[in-house]
Amino acid sequence: MSKSMICSCEDVTADDVRHAVSRGYCDVESVKRYTGFGTGICQGKSCLSAVAALLEKEKALKADAVVPFTPRPPLFPTELSLLASAPVDESLPPIGGVPQEVDAFPKALRPEGPVPAKAKVVIIGGGIMGLALAYNLARAGETDVVVLERGYLCAGASGRNGGGVRMQWGTPALVELAKRSIDVMKGFARELGINVWLRQGGYLFLARKPEVAKRLERNVALHNRFGVPTRLVTPDAARDIVPGLTMKGCVAASFNPEDGVIFPWPFLWGYAQGCRKKGVRVETYTEVTGFEVSGGQVRKVKTDRGDIACDTVVLASGAWSPQVAKLAGVELPNEPHRHEILSTEPLKPFLGPLVSVLDSGLYFSQSMRGEIVGGMGDPKEPAGLNMGSTLRFVSRFAHALMEQLPHVGHVKVLRQWAGCYDVTPDNNPILGRTPGLDNLLQMSGFVGHGFMMAPAVAERMAAWMATGESDELFTRFNLRRFAEGSLEREDMIIG
Ligand SMILES: Cc1cc2nc3c(=O)[nH]c(=O)nc-3n(C[C@H](O)[C@H](O)[C@H](O)COP(=O)(O)OP(=O)(O)OC[C@H]3O[C@@H](n4cnc5c(N)ncnc54)[C@H](O)[C@@H]3O)c2cc1C
Repeated sequence: MSKSMICSCEDVTADDVRHAVSRGYCDVESVKRYTGFGTGICQGKSCLSAVAALLEKEKALKADAVVPFTPRPPLFPTELSLLASAPVDESLPPIGGVPQEVDAFPKALRPEGPVPAKAKVVIIGGGIMGLALAYNLARAGETDVVVLERGYLCAGASGRNGGGVRMQWGTPALVELAKRSIDVMKGFARELGINVWLRQGGYLFLARKPEVAKRLERNVALHNRFGVPTRLVTPDAARDIVPGLTMKGCVAASFNPEDGVIFPWPFLWGYAQGCRKKGVRVETYTEVTGFEVSGGQVRKVKTDRGDIACDTVVLASGAWSPQVAKLAGVELPNEPHRHEILSTEPLKPFLGPLVSVLDSGLYFSQSMRGEIVGGMGDPKEPAGLNMGSTLRFVSRFAHALMEQLPHVGHVKVLRQWAGCYDVTPDNNPILGRTPGLDNLLQMSGFVGHGFMMAPAVAERMAAWMATGESDELFTRFNLRRFAEGSLEREDMIIG
């Protein structure tokens, strides 16, 4: 073991990079996430070329596949107080953003050779939903499963989220699913051999308007019924939970000490590693381009590496699900909506819970690495698959954060990025069989909470698929409900 340093900000050695490659994380985006190189104060300015040269030297990648990771604004670490001073016109919608991705997944990264000609189950999307389902199917004995992912693992919303996990929901179905998911997360390291850095510091919801305060009040009884210890807290008690919090403009708060945060990337890798160990094929850089449909069934999934004949297809493509479904002639009501997020320089531990002002969609927490990680929805954001980052977002976020935590104004933002919520008309997922195409199963529409729902949903979906026994989850959240108008809206959405 050598100590040949490659990223001094994050203490990443050449051997760490070799280790990532040995685990199958060979492209630059994946090596960045697996080792942490390029995520420190210099944001890759001093280490990116060294990692690229090492990957080429070690023959981990062909020369034309060694492409740099996507650069993230700001150009250099910038204080929140300075960002908050940038002017924002709230009457206008946000536009564009940087970087404009030219070719996010270059052909050179596509694996050589075709995909398998046949599989029992083909899952489209290697996000948390697709991978968790594949793992649970394999655990139930079904290993003839292929997961198709057009980019690297973590390319979609599952690699871009805030890692918040909470049981504070407004409907029984989501409370129950989140509760089960958090139980799975607690045992994840034992079962899958990877640390997901679960930290149960709680979720502190703040309400400004009386009607939002009423929502929090209503939820307490529901949560307690499921054994979730949510309680209403006064503004003073909220300040005790988070010292320095101003509670400016807030009239009420609720707190569940058992909610928390996890680190998204290892959660995804854990499922992916578990899949591969059990014989599931996880094919990255492989894009689904169409379907062969006949007699009310999907017969084949077409990809840019050949066709796969299959018995069952699962659509788990997140915000891209409507466009993939369209290839099979299926219309989905989901709409993608950009959500921006950022991360600061690391600080000593000072913030226990994830805090969210429900009225404005502001949320912030402190990661296990010490960074403040947070985001905020924008009511003017139009629908669309946009993953650019804007100055408008950082300015709005910094302003709203400093209103609640004035003492963090000097803290520097290191990196901002964006992902897409996969939004349905009732803020609930779309699950189960597709009317008219029985063997195309839906697993999308998880808005801004799919990460925390995945372990429980995947567990139940795998059991439902393997045993054929009925489960009300797949009728309650079936696509049919939008035509039938039987919608129960979830209103505890952040952003
Ligand atoms: C900024 C932000 C913050 C969030 N915060 C939280 C949070 O705190 N807690 C929480 O629980 N959730 C959060 N979410 C939501 C959560 O990230 C998502 O609900 C969840 O990750 C969805 O998982 P998925 O597997 O359905 O989709 P994804 O992770 O997006 O996976 C879908 C995959 O399909 C692939 N794909 C698309 N088209 C094709 C094709 N044609 N062929 C092959 N593959 C294809 C994509 O590349 C992608 O990797 C947040 C989301 C965002 C954007």
